[in-house]
Amino acid sequence: MHSKKSEAGKIEKHSKNPFPEMEEEILEFWTKEDIFQKSLDKTKSGRPFIFFEGPPTANGKPGIHHVLARIYKDVIVRFKTMQGFYVERKAGWDTHGLPVELQVEKALKISGKQQIENIVPGDKKASVIKFNAECKESVMQFRQDWEEITKRIGFWLDLDHPYITYEPDYIESVWSILKEVSEKKDKAGKPMLFKGHKVVQHCPRCETALSSHEVAQGYRTVSENSVYIKFKVEDKALAEKPSLKKILKNDPVYFLSWTTTPWTLPGNVALAIGQDIVYAIVAKGDEQYILAKDRLGILDEYKVLGEVSGRELVGLSYEPLFAGAVDKGESKTVWTVLPADFVTTADGTGVVHTAVMYGEEDYQLGKKSGLPTQHTVDQAGKFLPSVKKWAGKFVKDKDVESGIIQDLQDRNLLLKVELYTHEYPFCWRCETPLLYYAKDSWFIRMSSLRGELLKNNQEINWVPGYLKTGRFGEWLKEVKDWAISRERYWGTPLPIWVCEKCEAVKVVGSFEELGRKGSKIDLHRPFVDEIKLQCEKCKGEMKRVPEVLDVWFDSGAMPFAQWHYPFENSNRIDAGQNFPAEYISEAIDQTRGWFYTLLAVSTLLGKGAPYKNVISLGLILDNKGQKMSKSKGNIIEPNQVIDEFGADALRLHLFTMSQAGDSKLFDIKGVDEVVKKTILIFWNILTFYQTYVADAKPKEFSGNAENLMDQWVLARLGQATEVITKKLESFDPTSAAWELQALIADFSTWYLRRSRERLRPGDNFSPESARVLKHAIRQVVVLSAPFAPFLADKIYQEIKTKTSQISVHLENWPGKSEIDSKILKEMEIVRSAVELGHAIRKDNNLKVRQPLSAVEVNHELAADLRKVLAEELNVMECKSVKKLSTGPNWKSKIGGALAVNLNIEISEELKHKGLVREMARHINDLRKSAGLTVKDMVDVEWQTEDETLNHIFTEHAPELRELTRSRGIKLGEVESVEFKKDLLLNKSRVVIGIKK
Ligand SMILES: [Zn+2]
Ligand SMILES: [Zn+2]
Repeated sequence: MHSKKSEAGKIEKHSKNPFPEMEEEILEFWTKEDIFQKSLDKTKSGRPFIFFEGPPTANGKPGIHHVLARIYKDVIVRFKTMQGFYVERKAGWDTHGLPVELQVEKALKISGKQQIENIVPGDKKASVIKFNAECKESVMQFRQDWEEITKRIGFWLDLDHPYITYEPDYIESVWSILKEVSEKKDKAGKPMLFKGHKVVQHCPRCETALSSHEVAQGYRTVSENSVYIKFKVEDKALAEKPSLKKILKNDPVYFLSWTTTPWTLPGNVALAIGQDIVYAIVAKGDEQYILAKDRLGILDEYKVLGEVSGRELVGLSYEPLFAGAVDKGESKTVWTVLPADFVTTADGTGVVHTAVMYGEEDYQLGKKSGLPTQHTVDQAGKFLPSVKKWAGKFVKDKDVESGIIQDLQDRNLLLKVELYTHEYPFCWRCETPLLYYAKDSWFIRMSSLRGELLKNNQEINWVPGYLKTGRFGEWLKEVKDWAISRERYWGTPLPIWVCEKCEAVKVVGSFEELGRKGSKIDLHRPFVDEIKLQCEKCKGEMKRVPEVLDVWFDSGAMPFAQWHYPFENSNRIDAGQNFPAEYISEAIDQTRGWFYTLLAVSTLLGKGAPYKNVISLGLILDNKGQKMSKSKGNIIEPNQVIDEFGADALRLHLFTMSQAGDSKLFDIKGVDEVVKKTILIFWNILTFYQTYVADAKPKEFSGNAENLMDQWVLARLGQATEVITKKLESFDPTSAAWELQALIADFSTWYLRRSRERLRPGDNFSPESARVLKHAIRQVVVLSAPFAPFLADKIYQEIKTKTSQISVHLENWPGKSEIDSKILKEMEIVRSAVELGHAIRKDNNLKVRQPLSAVEVNHELAADLRKVLAEELNVMECKSVKKLSTGPNWKSKIGGALAVNLNIEISEELKHKGLVREMARHINDLRKSAGLTVKDMVDVEWQTEDETLNHIFTEHAPELRELTRSRGIKLGEVESVEFKKDLLLNKSRVVIGIKK
C-alpha cells in the first residue's frame, strides 16, 4: 500500500496515477475483513433505512449510466449507515420480457414468432422450451460483469442473496398480487382486471401489445408522407339533401380527407365530421370538394360555392376506396358520414378518415355507430387476403405505401401528398414502428385509480422537485389502463384460466391452487400451459390464457415479491420492516418505467406510496451533448476510466459534474481534473502529515485550540459537516460533494499552507496544532467516506490509532458541533481582502515577492487576523482604518462593503528585502534540483559585479541563510560547484552555486 514520496511528499502530476492500484488493495482488505457485513452487524439494532434496488437486466454489459445510478444509491446508503441506520441492500435481477427475448432471437439468427415456434422444426412445444431456456441463460450472461463492476465502484450490495424475477417464489408473489387485483372493483363496480377488445399499441415484429408506459419510452420525431384523399359522394345520396343540391353544380362531389397512415385506408369504413363545424363546398376544375371552411388553406385555386354546417352532411354515403377490403355485413352505417366530437380543424380537412380497427377514437365511434369491425391487417402487420393488391405485404414498407398512393392517383382519388413531421411511437425494444391495432388484451383499470395515484405521489419527495407535478404528475393525470398481457414466451405467465365451455375466469394466486408445491418447479411456458383446471361452475375444462405478463409488472412488484410476500416474511411488509422504501434512485427514463410501476402496483394493493424519496438522474451524454451509442463510437467504458483514474475519481466526477437531475456531458478531462483538484490535494495533506508531523506522535485532540488558524480550521470543519449532513439528508449528494471539495481545498490552500511553520519540526513547532491537524484530517476522512470510499479508507488506515475502527466505514457520522461563526466570518473578510490586495498588485505590476510597506482595510480586524492579511499580501504592516489614506502611492480596490488600500511605494530597504526573497527562491530551486531534503544543510557561493546584490549577500546573509537552510554564504569561485545557476537579477548577471 505504499506510494512514492518525494521531498515535498507529493505525487507528481506526470507519475502514473497510483490510485487505481491502491483501490484494488482496499477492495481486498474489505473482502478479507468483511467490512460490509461488519457495517451491517454494527447497525443491526439501529432504525431501518429502507432501500430498494431497481433490478437491472444482466443480458448486456453494464455501462457508465449504470455506474451513475449505482454510486448515487451507494452514497446515500453509506451515509445513512454511518448515521447508525440499518440499511439492508438486497440486490435484484430483472430477467423476463422483450429485451431478453429479442436478444435471443438475434443470437439464434431468427426473428418473429413463426421462427421461434419452429426452432425445433415442427415441434412448437420443444421450440418454446428451447427458446425459454436460451432466454434464461442469456439473461444472466453478464451477471459476473455486473457483480464485478458493482464491487469495483464500491457499491456495497448484497449480491449473494438477490431477488431474481424468474424464480418460482418471485413468480408466485406476482401471481398473488394479480389475484388480489382481480378481486377488486373500482368505484363504479367495474372489475380492476379485465379482458378488453381495444385499440392498443402493437409491435408487428414482436407481435404483441405494449403498455402505454412502454410506448412512452419510444417516441421519435419522424417525417413521413401524409395523403389528402378524395372520397366520392354517391349521387343517390345527394338526391336526399336538398340544401346541398341548391349549392352544388353537376360535377362529381368528393369529401376531402387526410391521413398520415395510408396503410389504414383499405380499412376505411366511415368519415367523421363535427356537427358544428362549418364546411365549405368549393369548385376546382371540374370537381367539387367538401372540407372544413377553416382548412381551405390546403387548396390553391378554388371557388367557394357555398357553406353548410356539419349536421347537414351527416348520413351522406360515399363509395368505398378499396371495394372488397371490408365486408359490410349487417352494418347500415358503413361508408357514410357520421358525427363525432373528436373532429377538429387543427389539421387535416375537418373530415376524418375512420378505420375502426386502427385508432382508439375510430374504434369507439365504430362500436357506437354499428360499423363493421374487421381487420384488413394481421398481427404481424401484413395485409390480409381481402386487400388483394398487397395481401401478405408489410404495411409499413415504403413500396407498399407508394403503391397505395400510386393506386389512388391512378383512380383519381388522390388530391396530394405532403411530407408531415410528427411524433410517432416505436417499439422500445426492436425499434419497429408500432401500429394502433384493435384486439383482445388483458388490462388493469389504472384509469380508475388516477386519484389514488396522484394522492400517493403527494407523499413522495422527488429530486429534482419539479418532476413531482411535472413529468411524473402529468403522466399520472393522463394515466391509461395498463395493457398487461404480452403474446410472448419468456415472462411471468398470466395466471388466468378460462373455461372452454362457459367462459368463466379463474385467476390463480398461488402454486398450491394448481396442486403444485415447492420452489424448484418451473411454471414458465410451455409447462404452465399444460395445466388444465376444472370449472367450478360447469365442470368444464379450463385452460390458461396464452399470454405472459408485462415485464414492468415484475419489477413494479419487487417490494413484495423480493420477500416472497405474502407467503413468507409478512412482517417485512405488514410491520413496515422493509416497506415502503426511504430511498430509490434510477435514471429519468424510469418515470415511465420502474418509478411508475412501483407506484402502480403498490397503489393497486392499497399500500400507499412505495417510496418516500427518489432521485431521478439526468442522462449521461458525450462531451458534445450527444447520446452515447455504439454506432457513434462515443461510448464510455467504465472499466477503462476506473483503470486509469480510479473509482473514486469517477464517483466524485459523476457526483459533482451537475445536479442529479441534469444531463451529464461526460468528458474524461473532468475525471482527470477531479484527481488533481480533490484527490491529489487530499492525498498531499496526508503526505504532509506523514512527512512532518507523524513522527511527533500527536496525542488525541483535546478540544482546545489557541492559534487563530487552528480555531479557524475547526470552525470550517464544523461548518462543512453541517452543510454536508444537511445536503445528504435532503438527498442532494451533488451539493454535499461540492462542499467536500471546497473543504479539502480550504484545508490545503489556506489552513495547511498558512500553518506549515507550526507543524514542521523546528522552533515554531506546536504540539497543539499537530493535534488539531490530525483531528481535522480524520474528520475530513470520515466526511469523505460516502463519496470516495476507497481514498477515505486508505487515509484512515494511514492515520489510525489504537482506538480507531478497522475501517472508516465503521465510523460514526460526526454530529453537530458548536461552530465559531465569528471567526468564519472574519476569515472570509481577510480572504476577500487578500484577493483585492493581489488584484491591486497585479494592476500595478508588483510581484508578490516584493515586500511593500503598508496595507489598510476599512474593517475592524483583530491583530492576529491583520497579521494574516499582512503576511498574505507580503506587507510590513496592516491597519484597520475608518478612512483610507490618499496620495499618489496609495492604490485601493473595493469589493462590496470591503475596501483595501495598498501603499505601493518601494523604498531602498523594501527593494533589498524583495531581492533577498528572490535570491532565496533561486537557491531553493537549486536545492530542489540537487535532490536535497529539508534536513540537508548547504554552503552557498556567489559571484556578481552588481553592488546591490553584493550588499544583499553580505548585509542580508543571516536572513538568506535562514530562508535557504544554509551554513555559510560566501563570495567564491562558483566554477567548481556542481549545482549552480547563472541568472539575471536587478538587471545584472549573478552566478550562484550550492555545496552540500
Ligand atoms: Zn418490437
Ligand atoms: Zn365453465
